Amino acid sequence: MNGQVIDGTGNAAYFADIGIARDTIVFVDTSYTRGWKTRRTIDAKGYIVSPGFIDPHTHAGGDLRDSIRNSNINYVMQGVTTVFVGNDGRSARDIEAQFTRWESQGIGTNAVTYVGHGTVRRMVMGMRDNEPTLEEMGSMKALVRKAMEAGAIGLSSGLYYAPASYANTREVIELARVVAEFGGNYDVHIRDESSYNVGLLGAIEETIRISELAGIPGHIAHIKCLGVDVWGKSNDAIRLVENARSRGVAITADQYPYTASGTSITGALVPRWFLAGDEEVGEKLDDPEIRSRLAVDMKENLRRRGGPDRLLITRPNDQNKELKGLTLQEAANKWDMDPVEAAIEILRQGGSALGSFNMQEEDITNFMRQSWVMTGSDGSRGHPRKFGSYPKKIREYVMNKGVLTLEEMIYRSSTLPAMTFKIQKRGVLKPGNYADIIIFKPGEVRDHATFENPEELSEGMYYVLVNGQTAIDKGVYTGALAGRGLKREQQNGN
Ligand SMILES: [Zn+2]
Repeated sequence: MNGQVIDGTGNAAYFADIGIARDTIVFVDTSYTRGWKTRRTIDAKGYIVSPGFIDPHTHAGGDLRDSIRNSNINYVMQGVTTVFVGNDGRSARDIEAQFTRWESQGIGTNAVTYVGHGTVRRMVMGMRDNEPTLEEMGSMKALVRKAMEAGAIGLSSGLYYAPASYANTREVIELARVVAEFGGNYDVHIRDESSYNVGLLGAIEETIRISELAGIPGHIAHIKCLGVDVWGKSNDAIRLVENARSRGVAITADQYPYTASGTSITGALVPRWFLAGDEEVGEKLDDPEIRSRLAVDMKENLRRRGGPDRLLITRPNDQNKELKGLTLQEAANKWDMDPVEAAIEILRQGGSALGSFNMQEEDITNFMRQSWVMTGSDGSRGHPRKFGSYPKKIREYVMNKGVLTLEEMIYRSSTLPAMTFKIQKRGVLKPGNYADIIIFKPGEVRDHATFENPEELSEGMYYVLVNGQTAIDKGVYTGALAGRGLKREQQNGN
């Protein structure tokens, strides 16, 4: 009671009392006349009350499966009450088993899953760099269908990553058509966010084509202008999406509020031809011809990313612990090597996660202002976004820079994802919806995660309710595992 409600729809804040019975909101009352009898009252005077955030892009699948990290506390502390997993084309192989596990083990937030194109392709074709045969195509479609029947929300694809990078557009359209029959969505880490192959704009055009031809809403994951060749192209990218939307193709995107992406030596620098086939990395590197070809391509990829000063080594393997926190340039200096040679050496020793400082602030805020761009953390280990995205967006882009109003930020983090992905009865504070509710003072919300300490929890959420249960009580996690696996709402006829 007494809180200022921002209901998620984008409407301005208003004062109201909210009533909850079990897991459901039963009233949002502005008249203060009803005299409800309550078992417990939370006084939210001076606080904002809003829907819990819905994060459409995380890599929390491993955490939710874990018997300790299943609390998903890094998200709960950010005010996130629903996460999507299975993004970027990598999902559980058995979607039904995943739902069963969540239910039996308990999870701290609600969870939604995609079926991953890369996962399905790998199950059927391994790491082969060619088109599927008719029979293989049939097997992939059957796996996608089975996952959709088990409740997956749609198909995710990581066309930038091997093995999905070996797929042509037609293959994706065929799989997306299966998903469209179920009313599902298509989510993609686009083939190129930079100038690697088809280019940023070419990759957005491909996404639009897939959506249009498969008859499915398309969603661009973590939209960005990655690297020197495409800096400043956000206007062109926005125009492509706006044009598609104006002719009725449903395209949306999500974005995390950091100038660095989280990737790896392999993801950022190694060409995809090198990853095809089943030989070991070390074996391939021993072939001098392959190695010199690799070095040429890696040098070019390093230039795209802005050079060795812009790559931060965040999670080297045990052999290279001393490189943690160094840039690739510093690592190369330490080893007295050329940066490309140093990168190849790290690759030989098992690779490393990287922070890749490859975005410009102007492109970030330009995308952020678009009505179809939602918040998404893309949370992955070693990058602070996994622990800090939502508080950082409030602190930096609402409170400090005023890029968005708080109402706009909350809309892009609750109602917009709920509508886009047809998550029923969530994302708006209104009677009949599930009680996923957060209570906070925007000025008190803080992200503490950095590249040096990426696993620092955020603070400032006074209360977080998940399905009516208190997960955060006066800023402290209660131990509740109140989340549910959310299966795609069954459509008529399916
Ligand atoms: Zn991605």
